Amino acid sequence: MSANVRVRFAPAPTGLLHIGNARTALFNYLFARKEKGTFILRIEDTDAERSTDASIEAILQDLRWLGIIWEEGPDAGGQSGPYRQSQRLSHYHGDAEKLLGEGKVYKCFCSPERLETLRKEQLSRGMMPKYDGRCRNLSEGEISKMESEGLRPVLRFRVDKGTVVFEDLIHGKMNFDSNGIGDFIIVRSDGMAAYNFACVIDDHSMQISHVIRGEDHLSNTPRQILLYRALGWQPPVFAHHPLILGPDRSPLSKRHGATAVSQYREEGFLPESLLNYLILLGWTPSSGEEILPLEKIVETFSLSGLSRNAPTHSRKKLEWLNSHYIRKADKGRLTRLLLPYFEKAGIPVNQQDQTYLIQICGLLKDNLFLLSQVEEYLSIFFDEKFSFEEEVKAILILPENRNLLQTILNAIEGWSEIEDDNTSSLLRQLEEKTGRKGKSLYGLLRAGMTGKMKGPELVKTLPLLGKERMMKRLKMALEIA
Ligand code: GLU
Repeated sequence: MSANVRVRFAPAPTGLLHIGNARTALFNYLFARKEKGTFILRIEDTDAERSTDASIEAILQDLRWLGIIWEEGPDAGGQSGPYRQSQRLSHYHGDAEKLLGEGKVYKCFCSPERLETLRKEQLSRGMMPKYDGRCRNLSEGEISKMESEGLRPVLRFRVDKGTVVFEDLIHGKMNFDSNGIGDFIIVRSDGMAAYNFACVIDDHSMQISHVIRGEDHLSNTPRQILLYRALGWQPPVFAHHPLILGPDRSPLSKRHGATAVSQYREEGFLPESLLNYLILLGWTPSSGEEILPLEKIVETFSLSGLSRNAPTHSRKKLEWLNSHYIRKADKGRLTRLLLPYFEKAGIPVNQQDQTYLIQICGLLKDNLFLLSQVEEYLSIFFDEKFSFEEEVKAILILPENRNLLQTILNAIEGWSEIEDDNTSSLLRQLEEKTGRKGKSLYGLLRAGMTGKMKGPELVKTLPLLGKERMMKRLKMALEIA
């Protein structure tokens, strides 16, 4: 494909970025990268009541966090700006006037109350609601009269009989009977362009070659194609991908848990995990590999490889990918990502030995499938947080274990210090002294030293605690009444 592939992600800034929308952005971004084209971010904020600047900021921030970077957009500028529809109103008026002059759209004065009554009536008769064309053939005189009475019309597109056929890159040939469409609004009574109209004008003037969006827009596409025809323009190529479903196969929504990208970020998912997850939803690389960092996805991605079947959200899979990427992250980055959770748990990280913090992060990464889980383990490493879990206490007070704890304490007293390179031999000596091995020794050791039943690898944890602290905790364990 040629270098003039131009695609866009066009969110309405009326809330947080949903993972379903992030997936649409990702497909567009990947397609642009793959085809050496341009990825554009366009903000569809013609709904002034529901759109907010805060939402625009949040969407930009979430996309950047994911690494989905646009070449043209509200902050990046570009040849087709501005990239906020609220700043493009003059672009829409000229074409609306032109269509009106040609009789392809008409002024409609029907009140919202009349339209609502019509809709209810049609529904009660089992019909698909659509405009009945009452204002289709108003005379000039009727129009001027209503306008002079102060009535403000909407502009409706005249949908004539016929079919709209287009080739969807994911669904194949799509066929719509225009009879089911009904004359639709292109400019609202406040003069604001409606979604379908603004979208067509912008996609055309931004020279968008491919429109990749969710299947929920399939019913808009015939309307948009009719507008392209009326304006004498070539429509872009369309690709409508299936939407993500919840485990109960209904569209993914808040009742299924987190849906916003920012919620996943706060919980401690890494951007690469979320990206890898989103791409696996509905796309299986030919190699069958599931661990796919962005660069690898770019190499192998194709729109035609997207499944027509709706994918089901699986939090388990996302967590699995996250534990993989946490394990793979380098120590420096991981520490930077984890320290905010230390602070949240009340550990003043600036007053701590930085090497110690890095070591803890390096050790704990194998135990996490979410960054935020690090908080569960901090009690092991910071005395002010340390305590024995109830289950652990019950084990530590058993008489046979108390004897064993005492033997261990006596042995440790004789150590000079426990370090990474002598831990194994010290533990072997302990096995000899106690005559125990495996779980019966190490389970107890873990319980006494960490206060927990489960946790990071013991051999690596003990040198981080050091001899003094190990003894102190064993004494505490022996004092449990
Ligand atoms: N603003 C629309 C949405 O957020 C964009 C649809 C499109 O891509 O044309 O769903």
